[in-house]
Formats: sequence, structure tokens, C-alpha cells
Amino acid sequence: MRAQPQLCVKAGNAPDDSFHMLVDGAWRPATGGSVRPVHDPFLEQDWGEVPEASPQDVDAAASAARRAFEDGRWSRLLAGERARTLLRLADLIERDAEKLTSQQIFENGKLISEMAPGTRALAGDCRYFAGLAEAHCGASVPPSRPGFTTFTLKEPIGVVGAITPWNTPLGLLGWKLFPALAAGNTIVIKPSEITPTSTLMLAALCREAGIPDGVVNVVTGGGETGKALVEHPDVDKIAFTGSTQTGQLIASRAALRSARVTLEMGGKSPQVVFADADLDRAVNGIMAGIFAATGQSCMAGSRVLVEESVFDRFADMLAERGSAMIAGDPLDTQVQLGPLASRAQLDKVLSYFDIARQEGLSCMTGGRRMDRRGYFVPPTVYRDVPPDSRIAREEIFGPVVSLFRFDSEEKAVSLANDTRYGLAAGIWTADVSRAHRLLHRLRAGTVWVNNYRIVGHTLPFGGYGQSGVGREMGADALEAYCETKSVWIDTGNEIEFRTGREDGNGL
Ligand code: NAD
Repeated sequence: MRAQPQLCVKAGNAPDDSFHMLVDGAWRPATGGSVRPVHDPFLEQDWGEVPEASPQDVDAAASAARRAFEDGRWSRLLAGERARTLLRLADLIERDAEKLTSQQIFENGKLISEMAPGTRALAGDCRYFAGLAEAHCGASVPPSRPGFTTFTLKEPIGVVGAITPWNTPLGLLGWKLFPALAAGNTIVIKPSEITPTSTLMLAALCREAGIPDGVVNVVTGGGETGKALVEHPDVDKIAFTGSTQTGQLIASRAALRSARVTLEMGGKSPQVVFADADLDRAVNGIMAGIFAATGQSCMAGSRVLVEESVFDRFADMLAERGSAMIAGDPLDTQVQLGPLASRAQLDKVLSYFDIARQEGLSCMTGGRRMDRRGYFVPPTVYRDVPPDSRIAREEIFGPVVSLFRFDSEEKAVSLANDTRYGLAAGIWTADVSRAHRLLHRLRAGTVWVNNYRIVGHTLPFGGYGQSGVGREMGADALEAYCETKSVWIDTGNEIEFRTGREDGNGL
């Protein structure tokens, strides 16, 4: 029998399929009682509902997070104590890994073969940031004037508003939640309206791990709820992952009150295949880059540049292998292609199939909805796509790849960099010198050589251009959740009153 979604965070006598939000340590419905359904994209069925948080609910959560920050119940603990709590949280994530995995699948339809390792990685990410909690510190620096001792301190920013997307709900939340907590911040999370319940489950584990009330809050709802969070005066920093359009809007609103911002946004990433590459391996890598997760990946390698001499052979191999992928229940470990995450995402991808037809593109395989239940579209390959076509330039977020030819390294670099994005890039070649030459020239936050779509907590992740602002993960990730304070201690100078400074150092 197919597993069922967890209904673990209902409160009081709420109906069985009704979730509540976490505000100031209590599970509660939305003021006014508005709800929004949670939907399974494989079964095309609603299976639960979550509160639709109003601006008053966001205010309650942000105020709770502010109080929790100011009274020091978390921010003024020893970093080592925060680390111990995060290590407990990591153990709980591992204990409940199966439930957390399947809950995300019931929300977004992503394959269990991808989600299960992702949940295990989440526990590892949590431990990594627990380890960094005590290591991230200021520096003792040589004074630039005599008679002073000078050093810097790293302090938490305050209240973080985390806004997340639906494609990897918990993984992308962890990249924000763990460093924010390790550094001593409090947080209000606004998960995607498509994947709210898995986030509520993780919040329940935060409570069980002993994170004090008010430190982790979750408000569920759509764009309006997110907007209220971005505009709330108690929120000192917004950590956002989602589309470039929404990210830019958020950044412009946050700028009006000088809130700090990190943005992880969209992509249209190139993969460059040279004739000397192991083509079988490269086809596997290209498929993992664009067909895995049904193409709903920020780092999807959606533009594939192939050297002229192997272009036709490579295109045929890719179309053939793509069209043979097994579509089906995302909970089945043998399935290779799951549904798109929502009806809206299906409509978006189908609209790009129409655009491709209007643009007269040559479609080698796919290009239509699959005739079955669930929001399925097949792997789709367009060849010889004009670089200025919409299919080549816009993020589709589906299993849709555009193929281009090149006949020189120069041409490959200029095609690869011909985008407003810059999240990731792949290079497939047997020539190590060429790989080194190219990786310096590709404008992307991550470059993979002879592999693709690998991430891990020790390396920073983020985008050039309109793919992002700032980086998540890696040893510097706590920096994005800290302010730096500079301290001057006078060690015995004469104090004289002067209106100006002879050395010009006063500002
Ligand atoms: P989205 O921009 O539609 O929504 C993201 C989040 O923002 C959701 O929680 C949504 O409710 C919220 N939101 C929407 N309007 C808002 C507003 N006006 N103010 C505040 N919040 C608002 O993105 P999505 O469809 O959920 O996710 C897909 C996108 O995310 C793709 O573009 C993908 O490339 C990107 N993404 C980027 C990364 C990365 O690391 N760079 C990772 C995953 C996904």
C-alpha cells in the first residue's frame, strides 16, 4: 500500500488533515481562520490544509522572534550550547528521515531516490553548522594608531525572515536555518505555499531538540504572507530562495528599510560537451542535470553546447535515453521521472511547448503533456535552438533542454556566458588543460568538470549575475548571519578635545 502523508502538527481538536503554524512556541490557526489546501501532484488530489497567515499573524511571529532575540534566550547562550542543541536536532532529523522525505514527496512529487539522500544530507548540514558555531569569531587586529588594542566581534544580526521555494523544501531551508541559529539569530520561516507541511515538521523537531519558544517560528501562506514578512520592521535580514523575479522584488522592498538580504535565484545553466569527452558519461551527466527532479532545479543544465563533430551523435543519444526514462510514482525507487510539482508548474511548462512550436524549433522528443494521471511531461529535447529564442533564454523549470553547436572554445565560452543568469556550468572534456582554461572563463557560481549537480556543505553555493546575491553553505556561511563590530580600547592615551583631526582619520 502507498504510504500516507504525516498529519503530525495539528493542534487541539483541529480536523485530522489540518495543520497549524508555529508562533512563539504554540501551534495556531490563522487569525480569521483562512486556510489553503496542500496538494499531491502525482495523485492530483488535495490531502490537507494549512493556515493562510494574515499580516497580523506575521506580526505576531516577527514580534515573538524579536522578543526571543532581545532577551537573549538563544542569542546570548554560549555558542557551544547552541551547537549542542543543533547536534540534537541533527539526530532527530536522522530519526525522522523517512517521514521528512515522504512528506516532501507528497507535497512536490520529487523522486524518493533524490529526496532520501537529500534528507540525510540535511542532518549533515546541521552538524556542519553546529561545528562552525564556536569557530566563527572575530579577529584580534593590529591597531593603526598607537595606544590602542583593536579587535572585531561577530554578533548575530537579529531576526531572520527565511522565504523558501518548493523544489527542495527542507534542503534549502536548512541552508538558512542552521547558520542563522548557529550564529544566534531568531527566525521566522515562510515556506512555499506548495510545500508547507514538511517545514512545519522540521519546526516541530526544533522544539523537540530544545530550541526555546519564539526562536523558530513558521508562518504558512502565499506571496502576500511573504510580502508582510519582508516589510516587517522587526525583521533584520531576509534570506530568500526562489525565482529571480520575486527575489528582485524582495530586494527592492528590503532596501527601503536597509534590511540585509541574501538571494538564491533562478538559472539557465550551460553544459559544454567537447568531442574528446566520454560521451556516455556526458549523456548521463546531462540527463542528471536537466531531467532529474523533472528539471525543477535551480542549477538545471538547460542549455547544452556540443562540439560540432559529435553534435548529431550526442543529440540522438540524449533524445533516445531521455525518451526511455521510466515515469511513475515518486515513492517507487525504480522510477526515474516524477510529476511536475503543481498544476501551475505544468501550465508553465506546457506554455513553453507552445512557444517552441511558435518559434518553429526542432523537437527531437517530448514537447507535450503525458497521457496519464499526475502533472507529467516527458523529457524534451530541442536541437539547434537559436540563442535569442525564449526557450534558450528563459528559465522553464521543467525537463526541457536546448542543444546548440560550437566549433571553437571561443564560441563555446561566448554561448555559455550569453545569459543574464550565472548559477552553474558544466564542462565535459578529457583535456585537463582545456578544463582549467574554461572554468576560469565561465561566469557561474559553481563549475563542475566531468560531473554535474553535486552540492555539499563545505563549498559555498550561489550565483553570478541575476542568479543571486551572496552565498550559502561553506565555512563563510555564518558571515551572512552576523554583523561585525569593531572595538577600539584605549590603553592610556591623553584625551584632548579637538574639532578636527590633523591626520584626517576621523570621518
Ligand atoms: P517563487 O519566487 O515563486 O517563490 C519563492 C517563495 O517566495 C515562495 O515561498 C513564495 O510564496 C514567496 N513569494 C512569492 N511572492 C512573494 C513576494 N512578493 N514577497 C515575498 N515572498 C514572496 O519561486 P518558486 O516557484 O517557489 O521556486 C522556483 C524558483 O526558485 C526557480 O526560479 C528556481 O531557480 C529558484 N531556486 C533557486 C535556488 C538557488 O539556490 N539559486 C534553489 C532552488 C530554487
